[in-house]
This record gives sequence, C-alpha cells and structure tokens, in this order.
Amino acid sequence: MFKEKNNFAKKREKMVKKQLKPRGIDDENVIRAFKEVPREKFVPDHLKEYSYQDGPLPIGDNQTISQPYIVAEMVQALQLTREGVVLEIGTGSGYEAAILSKIAEHVYSVERIQSLADKAKMILDELNYQNITIEIGDGSLGWPVGDKVFDGIIVSASAPKIPESYKNQLKIGGNLVIPVGSKASQTLYKVKKNSIENLEKINLGYVRFVPLIGEQAW
Ligand code: SAH
Repeated sequence: MFKEKNNFAKKREKMVKKQLKPRGIDDENVIRAFKEVPREKFVPDHLKEYSYQDGPLPIGDNQTISQPYIVAEMVQALQLTREGVVLEIGTGSGYEAAILSKIAEHVYSVERIQSLADKAKMILDELNYQNITIEIGDGSLGWPVGDKVFDGIIVSASAPKIPESYKNQLKIGGNLVIPVGSKASQTLYKVKKNSIENLEKINLGYVRFVPLIGEQAW
C-alpha cells in the first residue's frame, strides 16, 4: 500500500516535469496543485495504472477525465488568485474541481449526471477537500441556485456557442475558459470580461471535449 502510494507520487512528479512544464505551464500555484492532487483517486479502479498518462481516460456514463495538460492549460488561463471564487461546469470525476480547490478560495461545480456527482462528492469528502460545492443541474445556464458572480468560469464540455448565462455570471476582469465548436472538434477560448460590453476572445488552440448538453448548448 505504501509502495503503491509512493509509486503514484513519483508518476505525479514526472507528469508535471514532462507533460506540463515543457508546454508552458509555469504558474506556481497551478504546478503545486498538480503535484498535490492524487489523480489516481479520480480514475476507475481498472485504469489506475494509467492515471498519469498523457491523455484523457473514460470515467463511465460515456464521459472522460481530461488530459492533465488540458486541465492545466485551462486552469492557468483562468488566472485565479487565492481569493478567487470559481465556477466549474461538468464536475465529472471531480479531479479538476480538486485542482481548482488548491488554487481558489471556493469552487462551485455543476454536473448533470447524478451518479458522477455522487461519486465525485464521495472522493472529495474522503480526501477532505472542504471548499467545493457540487450541484446537480444544467450547467449551460450557469450556477443553478441563487444569484452568484464568479472570478472565473471553466467549462469542461464543449458548446456550439458561448452561453449567454456565463457572460452575466462572470465578474468584470474575470476569465471564462470554454471549448466552442462542433461536436467533433472545438477551439478552446479564453474570454476576458474587460467591461460589460467588451469581451476579449483569445484562441488557445484546438481541442476535443464531450458535448455540453443543455438549454444553452447541444
Ligand atoms: N472536469 C471533469 C471532466 C468532465 S467531462 C473532470 O475533471 O473529470 C464533462 C462533464 O460535463 C461530464 O461529466 C458531463 O456529464 C458534464 N456535462 C455535460 N453537459 C452538462 C451540463 N449542461 N451541465 C453540467 N454538466 C454537464
């Protein structure tokens, strides 16, 4: 058991060194988070040995945990501070929420599939992450309960266009990171809200995500 834990820790260090740093992940808070969060806990039992490989993995219900580098690139693009409050759309395994919880003050995460949300909650509880709130709902409409605005919004499923709800739920100066395109392939955008009318779109490259399914999506 100790040996296995040690082995994963080594793989985690190697992932940061080989997959993240050479591709431009240099935000110290992001690097620290990736060194701390045990990705193997969020991966199904039969795939644990592949937890730190350079790609996505299935997590059940036709969904995937994203490639570590893509999670890192998206999280870095949010430019969060320790006081930041972030909204994640698509909790999935809970891995990205765990990474975000090490960087921001609080993470709000929405998932549409109950069984995935339940599993994620269980693991995050077991690991004692206390600054994550998960809700079931249609995340294409943003946070489903009460009125909230966020310093950052990260969407880990792809939309045909940017849902209007995110523009309103993002604070001025905040960043939205979202894959937009067809179901087959998308462009990852960082959208900076400079003012109410001025949204600046920065292209971060091509990606492939599972679809965002909801009222303002597919
Ligand atoms: N961030 C996740 C990856 C999630 S994959 C991780 O770290 O593992 C994308 C997730 O988005 C899936 O779990 C899918 O069920 C969810 N999803 C799709 N459409 C959604 C919607 N409208 N609202 C909330 N979640 C949605």
